[in-house]
Amino acid sequence: MVQPIPAAKPIIGQEEREAVDRVMRSGMLAQGPEVASFEQEFGAALVSGRACVATNSGTSGLHLGLLAAGIGPGDEVIVPSFTFAATANSVALTGATPVFADIEPTYFCLSPAAVEAAVTEKTKAIMPVHLFGHPANLTELQVVADNHGLMIFEDAAQAHGATWNGEQVGTFGEFAMFSLYPTKNMTSGEGGMNSVANADIERRMRLLRNQGMLKQYENELVGVNNRMTDLHAAIGRVQLTKVAGWTKQRQENATFLDANLRGVAVPTVAPEATHVYHQYTITVTEDRDGFADALRNEHGVGCGVYYPIPNHRLPSFKRELDLPETEKAAAEVLSLPVHPSLSEEDLDRIVTAVATVAKAGA
Ligand SMILES: *Cc1c(COP(=O)(O)O)cnc(C)c1O
Repeated sequence: MVQPIPAAKPIIGQEEREAVDRVMRSGMLAQGPEVASFEQEFGAALVSGRACVATNSGTSGLHLGLLAAGIGPGDEVIVPSFTFAATANSVALTGATPVFADIEPTYFCLSPAAVEAAVTEKTKAIMPVHLFGHPANLTELQVVADNHGLMIFEDAAQAHGATWNGEQVGTFGEFAMFSLYPTKNMTSGEGGMNSVANADIERRMRLLRNQGMLKQYENELVGVNNRMTDLHAAIGRVQLTKVAGWTKQRQENATFLDANLRGVAVPTVAPEATHVYHQYTITVTEDRDGFADALRNEHGVGCGVYYPIPNHRLPSFKRELDLPETEKAAAEVLSLPVHPSLSEEDLDRIVTAVATVAKAGA
């Protein structure tokens, strides 16, 4: 068989290797000047100059952001169930309760109407996920938040550079988290970058990630060690200079797939949104898993199901809830390769494979 097309592919170049080598030669490996520069540069490039705080993962960024915003036992935070478990996990780890709300069927993000219906007197915040690189409806979610005096926290793990009404995601919430895991739109190896709305939440996040210290051995509160290392920051700084070009390539690949795929439903983009295609997610209404197996095994087209089990049904949460759009999405979504390393030949192969499998199933 021909060489399989991977579902995702981190791009690591000579510059990243040299950056790591530069830090290793400096002898200072832990959080230091590289992290400070990365925070500055990320803020300027991706969140309109907002202050940023780096962490050792996206998940710890969410966790510390929630703690810094005062979320804890007795509080409820409304989250989607159709997302990676890190979203709800980070809420649960603060002692608060993640409350799962349904999604919009069009682009799989939190439904503002479902959020409205899930609000109780304990609700403190809404945490939308900009799933697959498509922003949640921040306009309508803000209306719900304003009506009930709630905060918004953005899980922007998959959405570096996406915009809503022309404004970058990560500039809307009290805090916003971007993941830097290797398969995300840019990477630092592992890591998270957190945009913060004000100096208060910034200071608390900086304290929490470093044992509660800003000044050594003068611990102001109880914290953890969730620092990013300078080695990781050095990789991230190089990747940051490339992410805009990669995003453009992802968008061009998506445009090609939109125009040429047959027999499946292609992604929908809201008129207010620019989509950065962390995933290019189609829906297959009949036998999605068989469709995915055929693409992989017969055509060498890597593809993924994000996410097959909604969070509310995971053994870790187990809630009796009726979330019909979430269930439908979990049964039908299939993400095709869209990453910037695809060649024209790869794209043609994906189109042919999808048409062939769709036809065979019809
Ligand atoms: C990747 C991801 C996270 C967690 O990020 P890590 O950097 O892997 O900890 C959280 N939420 C969503 C939606 C993600 O895709």
